[in-house]
Amino acid sequence: MKPTHLSPVAALFLLTLFAPAGTHAPAQTTASASAPTHRTPARTKEASPPVPPSAWNDHPRLAIILVIDQFRGDYLDHFRADFKNRGFNLFLQKGAYFPDCYYNYANTKTAPGHATIGTGSYTDGHGISSNDWWDLARNQDRPVSSVEDEHYRVVGAPDSSLPSNLPGAPGTAPKFITGSSPRNLLASTVGDELRLATQGQSKVFGVSLKDRAAILPAGAAANGAFWIDPISGYFVTSTFYMAQLPDWAAQFNTSARIAQAEQEANAPANTTEFYDLVGRTPAANSYELDFTQALIQGEQLGQRNVTDLLTISLSANDIIGHQMGPDSTYEQQMVDALDGQLDTFFTWLDKNIPGGLGNVWIALTADHGIAPIPSTAALYGLNAASVDLDKLSAALDYALNMKFSPGEKVEYILPHQELPYISLNQSEFMKAGINEQEAESAVQLLLPDAVASLAPPAPEPPPSDAPAPAPDSANAQSAKPSETRLPPHPVLFRSYTREQLADGPLPPTPWGQLLAHSYSPNGGWYVMVIPPDYQMETLSSIQTTHFSPWSYDRHVPLGFYGAPFAPGLYRGRIEPVDIAATFAALLGINQPSASVGHILTQALKPAAEVTYPKPVPAPRARHTSTPHRAATPAPTPKAHR
Ligand SMILES: [Zn+2]
Repeated sequence: MKPTHLSPVAALFLLTLFAPAGTHAPAQTTASASAPTHRTPARTKEASPPVPPSAWNDHPRLAIILVIDQFRGDYLDHFRADFKNRGFNLFLQKGAYFPDCYYNYANTKTAPGHATIGTGSYTDGHGISSNDWWDLARNQDRPVSSVEDEHYRVVGAPDSSLPSNLPGAPGTAPKFITGSSPRNLLASTVGDELRLATQGQSKVFGVSLKDRAAILPAGAAANGAFWIDPISGYFVTSTFYMAQLPDWAAQFNTSARIAQAEQEANAPANTTEFYDLVGRTPAANSYELDFTQALIQGEQLGQRNVTDLLTISLSANDIIGHQMGPDSTYEQQMVDALDGQLDTFFTWLDKNIPGGLGNVWIALTADHGIAPIPSTAALYGLNAASVDLDKLSAALDYALNMKFSPGEKVEYILPHQELPYISLNQSEFMKAGINEQEAESAVQLLLPDAVASLAPPAPEPPPSDAPAPAPDSANAQSAKPSETRLPPHPVLFRSYTREQLADGPLPPTPWGQLLAHSYSPNGGWYVMVIPPDYQMETLSSIQTTHFSPWSYDRHVPLGFYGAPFAPGLYRGRIEPVDIAATFAALLGINQPSASVGHILTQALKPAAEVTYPKPVPAPRARHTSTPHRAATPAPTPKAHR
């Protein structure tokens, strides 16, 4: 666990610094007894603009960034009639709701989405381009994940999940699971800036079922990030953060909560597929939110006179969304269940954060949207073909061998590709004396023909004297296209080399900006491949996905709840990078290091109208007790980032 201890002198200084400013204290300022050592200097009575609340004077106890994985921007409107109580309606009725929020980059995957939310920057700023990528300097056998880090080990997984204990494991199997860290994150997060600004007094945590979604939005200075061991469902962390799980987390893991989740999900007891079987059901969201409550209590978040920050990424919607698609009844059931689960969580916050929900900010958003299942889109006549990446790689390798090494079978294209990037085997190109520019340009030139070669043979046209098909009333009702249309076939829309993304030339248009935002220096040589809208790579165990620059993948909701936000519906394009920028501005701290977000001033109340409830002091609070954890040694630098 990262230490948060300050010397008594520094603590006294901070208590003074953080004492509520007289200007904004509401009428019942007697509650300033909650900061007994505070001595605010008398303020002049001259008329002057109100001092805006910030992390330095008046501030929320807890700021939450709530990310729903794969929650498209149209869902809140689509399912609005189902919502009850204070779940999503907290944002739709009592908060500032932005229905037109779009990511402004072309690589709409989970890891970059979460990094974007935390850092207020895109891939060209934070460096996270995808969930996994090839980095031949680190691993020549497989792509590395965006957060895996061989310098660290997973903490808290049960012995039964360790590789050496798995049935059939060789004797040489390790007795640990490789850990994770934000090593590839090249920018600070709003949580990092809050930790720096408060000299470590603010605590920052991240929670998700997925490591990348817990780690990346929270940042390198976070006190901790927790995700699940996919086998057992135990919440785990990494030695990057702490040597062992806190007691409250270990107790959660050994409580009956896992069994309850398995039962709610109709999964076998003690399943070894917790992520897949429980993760795709609404039971996973309540499981995750219960862990979050344990974290808030265990770490005493929101209990002190500083702002703590928590990023929560709810993963279940993504798992079922890939399998069943955005238009399935499963999606609606998940959203409706989540509405009730959020109501329960917000009500719990209201009771357990001093001063209630009035002392909490919550931003609601998503890491990306989702495409319709290609066969569904094709039913309406869209050219929703899928691209077989294995066949595409083979076609490219064939043509590259013809060009650079006739008669040989060099594998210039690496295996295990995921759009939108095709990774090149730079070792093989370099052996052949081909530099990056030549290699990427060659692939780019060969791509159109390679993609076209994947098209199914066009059906024979009907003879000119054949009778027209009889009108089909069912077809007419569903606007089904004419049966004489060609079947969907893959096409290349555009491609860009890594060097083009890094240095141009890119068109001086919104499209060019979107591409520039997709560049990452992490990994090796690559070419970005963009199929037309509604096309995607051929999928095996899932039905649809997200990865593209098209609107359905970039559209996410954005809602804010909290004292500074003027409730209302705000039309107009905004971006997820605006969350970190707006939170930083409201906290009076620096924006994250690479932030390109705008402050959403249209939804902010005048400073004079922003007040925070002053918590009633606990009746039996003992003078000697401190609400936060016991003193721990000063932070020691981490060896590797
Ligand atoms: Zn995702």
